[in-house]
Amino acid sequence: MGKAHHMTDERTFVIVGASLAGAKAAEQLRTDGFAGRIVVFGAETDRPYERPPLSKGYLLGKEPREKAFVHEPTWYADHNIQLVLGVKVTALDRKAHVITVDNLEPLQYDKLLLATGSRVRTLEVPGAENRGIHYLRTMTESETLRAGLKDGTQVLVVGAGWIGLEVAAAAREHGASVTVVEMDILPLRRVLGDEVAAFFRDVHVAHGVTFRFGTGVNEFGGAAGQVTHAVLTDGTEVPADLVVVGIGIQPNVDLAESAGLEVDNGIVTDEYLRTSDPDVFAAGDVASYLHPMIRERIRVEHWANAHNGGPAAAGSMLGKDAPYDRVPYFYTDQYESTPAIGMEYSGYVVPGGYDRVVLRGSAALDTGANPEFIAFWTREGQVLAGMNVNVWDVQDDIQALVRAGYAGTAVDLDRLADPGVALRDLLS
Ligand SMILES: Cc1cc2nc3c(=O)[nH]c(=O)nc-3n(C[C@H](O)[C@H](O)[C@H](O)COP(=O)(O)OP(=O)(O)OC[C@H]3O[C@@H](n4cnc5c(N)ncnc54)[C@H](O)[C@@H]3O)c2cc1C
Repeated sequence: MGKAHHMTDERTFVIVGASLAGAKAAEQLRTDGFAGRIVVFGAETDRPYERPPLSKGYLLGKEPREKAFVHEPTWYADHNIQLVLGVKVTALDRKAHVITVDNLEPLQYDKLLLATGSRVRTLEVPGAENRGIHYLRTMTESETLRAGLKDGTQVLVVGAGWIGLEVAAAAREHGASVTVVEMDILPLRRVLGDEVAAFFRDVHVAHGVTFRFGTGVNEFGGAAGQVTHAVLTDGTEVPADLVVVGIGIQPNVDLAESAGLEVDNGIVTDEYLRTSDPDVFAAGDVASYLHPMIRERIRVEHWANAHNGGPAAAGSMLGKDAPYDRVPYFYTDQYESTPAIGMEYSGYVVPGGYDRVVLRGSAALDTGANPEFIAFWTREGQVLAGMNVNVWDVQDDIQALVRAGYAGTAVDLDRLADPGVALRDLLS
């Protein structure tokens, strides 16, 4: 696009959701030379920030607040991006190309990006209104939680998913005692399968976390409005000064749904992140997008998918013909002292979608050192996902194996398990 076009671009692109996907999309629009108007609306009052630190470094008090933000405060104005915070977009009239915003004038758009993300699932049991029962999605919630995590606090975590485990680790580092209640028989079992899920359990047990598997919370008890304990489904009571509920999230599809867009566990899009309306796009946690490699629609609730999906949607809004085909990726960090977990995961498997888990290296905890291994989920010799634990600089190779696997290429599983064979040699 030449400069003359820039000067005359009278289009308005609107982004709903001022978090990672929305902010990165706005950035990409400017990087790609879009010179029209960009308006980003966000219901939160903080400018776009990243959430991973909220359960890790920021919750531990080791990372400054400023580090979590996606851009400097002046960046939006510097790039002529209107960032409107603390307001909710309440309606979308697709025919008129108009959105309605809390207390503001309706706004006409040419292209619209829905980056509305997700919200926590809540635990609706008697006693849930007591003080001291927390959720973790926003910066404010992380700050409130940190204030309550102290040496000697009795913390009860409900749900052994990623958030639950990261909070359990942070609480232990703060010196709190921690019990994790989980309906399943292992943490993360649906995502990782028994073999690798047991490793996560063992690490937390080594750090003094108590698990109560096969149970849920029936009710919370309190005194003077403050939580004191939980009654579990097996009838036992667990004392608690502080509860953190991490039982999953649900995509914010309300706006899309009431506007008649196709919604099915997220806003349905094609591989260009385009919804059933050609002028409306979706990215990040809220998008259920057709993945070209996996050849299915998937919804990914992770940082990288917001970080990369926002810009991919921006490209599509500008008419680029580039399918969004990144290999799904996520990471977690738990504990600083041994045994610590620093891990990355690439690929995609569903429960029952693989026939073997192949380990390269040992997940044993009895060596006194951090275990270093890579786990691969395979089907008929094809690698569908790989997770490196305390092993670094292997993501490119793992993603190459996953791409090959999804394209139907099998590898020798004995060589896959053999640390003496370079990963890149498996495909040659
Ligand atoms: C504590 C925590 C730790 C995490 N750690 C990791 C990690 O280690 N690794 C990893 O890969 N992922 C992690 N994640 C997940 C990652 O943060 C999310 O995938 C990511 O935030 C998704 O970004 P998003 O922009 O799609 O949506 P969100 O971050 O959910 O943001 C959506 C925004 O849209 C706003 N909004 C919604 N509806 C409207 C409306 N109608 N009008 C105006 N605004 C609206 C919301 O208020 C919100 O601010 C973590 C998440 C949490 C909560």
